[in-house]
Amino acid sequence: MSDDLVKDLVCPVCSAPLVSDGSVLSCACGRNFPIKNNVPQMNVMEIELDEASERVGCAKTLLSLSYQLATNSAWMIPPMRKRARVDIRKRLNNPASPILSRLKREWNFEHTLQKEITTLVDKLVSPEELSVLFTLQWKDNLTRLANKNRDEQAEYKKNGEYPSRFAYQGPTEREEMIKKHLPNGGTLLYIGCGTGRECLRYEHLGYDVFGIDTEAGLVDVMSDWCQMLGKKTKIFQMNAMALGFKPGLFDAAVVEIYGSSPSFAQRLVMQSQLAKVLKLNGVVLVSVGRNRYTQYMQLQNLYRDYGAHPNVKKTAQLLIEQAPMQAEDEDNNNLRYGVAKNSYTPASLSQEMSSYFDVISCKRMQDLRYICAVGQPLSKPKRDMAPKKSASFETEKSTIEAAKQFAKWLEGLVGILKEHAENELIYMEELKALKEKHQEGSGELEDKAWTYLTEKA
Ligand SMILES: [Zn+2]
Repeated sequence: MSDDLVKDLVCPVCSAPLVSDGSVLSCACGRNFPIKNNVPQMNVMEIELDEASERVGCAKTLLSLSYQLATNSAWMIPPMRKRARVDIRKRLNNPASPILSRLKREWNFEHTLQKEITTLVDKLVSPEELSVLFTLQWKDNLTRLANKNRDEQAEYKKNGEYPSRFAYQGPTEREEMIKKHLPNGGTLLYIGCGTGRECLRYEHLGYDVFGIDTEAGLVDVMSDWCQMLGKKTKIFQMNAMALGFKPGLFDAAVVEIYGSSPSFAQRLVMQSQLAKVLKLNGVVLVSVGRNRYTQYMQLQNLYRDYGAHPNVKKTAQLLIEQAPMQAEDEDNNNLRYGVAKNSYTPASLSQEMSSYFDVISCKRMQDLRYICAVGQPLSKPKRDMAPKKSASFETEKSTIEAAKQFAKWLEGLVGILKEHAENELIYMEELKALKEKHQEGSGELEDKAWTYLTEKA
């Protein structure tokens, strides 16, 4: 690590300068940060979580069910929903359940149930504990991502084949937003760099990129990519809530994951840290999720898999009408896939950022899942948030009992949904086979086949 780079770093705990002996960065406060595979290990924000406690275990189960509910409810849409609903009511133990009577009125039962899970989870764990549970739930995906990259790296070493997702195909909407304010490059901090695809894109655009991520496995993969591909992006294992960079180092910062899992207090800490490391005329780009994320994914998958079928088009149209994504955003706190919470509107995101930033623009993106804001640090922040690791949290025994019962009920429901989803896929295959058998097939035949198949169960 070059001396110049060491000069840009500070202790993420006490903000004093660091010295390097080549393998360890040391601070006068006594803390040491080892450098592994060119990556300084500077994450000092491990939040404590009592995984053995009943309330935490209960919350964990509910998050897993939230994920399963989201992934298996895609088929519970018109025209299949009618019979599936009857089926569910017949098969669940308690037909008088108040939730079931609500499900009868709403096609969008997933949203309702996720709200129910959210309410319970919020009573079981603190917002900070919840953010750790989200990370744990998400870990499987990260391991898969790291393994996939390792395979690609082996392939690259063997025959020089470059993964196509690294190929540059012009700037994204987000990159355009940054370029508008920083057309001639500059220093850019990328929060949540993962295995580095986005960082390398910004490097390609001419920025001097610093990528950080809390996951040691991912930054290790990324460091190997940089060395293999001769890239200059600098990588750190670091948490956005305790940055180890000297004040005013960056012209820009990009936060893709803002607000999905950290608690409100943690998000404000992250903002205060970002405002400090940015130059006064620097810009931050913050990306957040929107409320209708799950439905959007369902719609997208439906189009992708069966878009050609006229009935699917009708269904998709119905979905769009019932879950308008442009007009009806709300900033609620519903769980999404058991790994994230907090949805925003452009107004609520601007509001949340206003303590530390002057928000220049805040808008919905072409990719309907996201809202992005660009802001500049205020010369005098309106708050001063300090990092906190965790607070004690109390749960009443009756809440744990209620959560357990609900989890049991939900498990039954998810089981039926899984079965239903599998059946629907079989029907779709049958439909496809029927269509192939009759070659082109008239629209009339398809409609008949559809009617037959959707009424079969
Ligand atoms: Zn220190």
